[in-house]
Amino acid sequence: MSDKADIALYLLGGTISMAPKKEAHKEGETERPKGGVVPTISADDLCAVIPGLDQIATVRPQTFKKVASANLNMEDALRLKEEIEKLAKTQKCDGVVIVQGTDTLEEMAFLLDIILEVSIPVIVTGAMRSANMVSADGASNILSSVIAASFAPFAMAGVLVVMNEDIHAARYVQKCHTRDVGAFKSLNGGIIGQVCEGMIRMNYLPPQKRVFNFIEKRVVPKVGLVKATFGDEGDILKLITDENFQGLVIEAFGAGHLPESWLDHLDILIKDMPIMLCSRTSEGPVFQNTYGYVGAEIDLIGRGLIPSGILDGPKARLYMQACLMSGMAITPPDY
Ligand code: ASP
Repeated sequence: MSDKADIALYLLGGTISMAPKKEAHKEGETERPKGGVVPTISADDLCAVIPGLDQIATVRPQTFKKVASANLNMEDALRLKEEIEKLAKTQKCDGVVIVQGTDTLEEMAFLLDIILEVSIPVIVTGAMRSANMVSADGASNILSSVIAASFAPFAMAGVLVVMNEDIHAARYVQKCHTRDVGAFKSLNGGIIGQVCEGMIRMNYLPPQKRVFNFIEKRVVPKVGLVKATFGDEGDILKLITDENFQGLVIEAFGAGHLPESWLDHLDILIKDMPIMLCSRTSEGPVFQNTYGYVGAEIDLIGRGLIPSGILDGPKARLYMQACLMSGMAITPPDY
């Protein structure tokens, strides 16, 4: 019997699977074709050209979708959850790698982190450069992810992101650059570890998280995200009603502060829907008990807004959707 790990790999699309549009590609063309790259390559073809992959694990690739990650949504995450949980229960599967576009990678990873109930490593990865580019990073990212998915201690780590040989906890990771292969950073927490010389060098395991149990599939609630900007009087809040949104997240200034001009609208909205307060500053938690002026965090929390801890707007939005879908109370997250 082989002692190699058995790894299920799901491809959803993204740059890693992109190649120049067929009609735009001319024989001998050295420059980037005008038509740009689009999702093309299958999971099998991606894995087939990765040197050494078969020595590390038995990888079972599956093309789940072929889309740019802007087109992924909660339904895709729920389908993945079902698939992965079924696989973990019924078949020999030591770990899972999900391969997708980097634009929404941190959101998929975070969402899976709070809804998946499995005790095998689950890794999300992608690439900043498509396969036709010089120094494409896709093969290396998949290889590193398979190494991480084969590392048993990561069964207790929640969903992780592996990019550029860095290993990130889903709750901390953010795409911070449009081009750099080192675009992913662990803000607030630091990296979990690294893949180095084919081995895992682990720094720490992230603390346990709250997992939302979806008893039944329900309609995905619409939760809006509004960002505070200089001189903005919050007019956008007037367009939000309980008919178009079931919840709202506000990315406020600094440690969680809004202009006084927003407060009357907020007082009306909070009667109809839960509102989470987070910071538009990328690092540090939203405060709860420091500033005493009108529109600062003490006042806003007093009006009923729920502080989001270190979660930024996009992650707080998913957190609220998960709370609403599971019927659980929307309490501040533990992190
Ligand atoms: N636009 C691409 C996507 O998210 C970017 C990437 O994969 O890096 O699908």
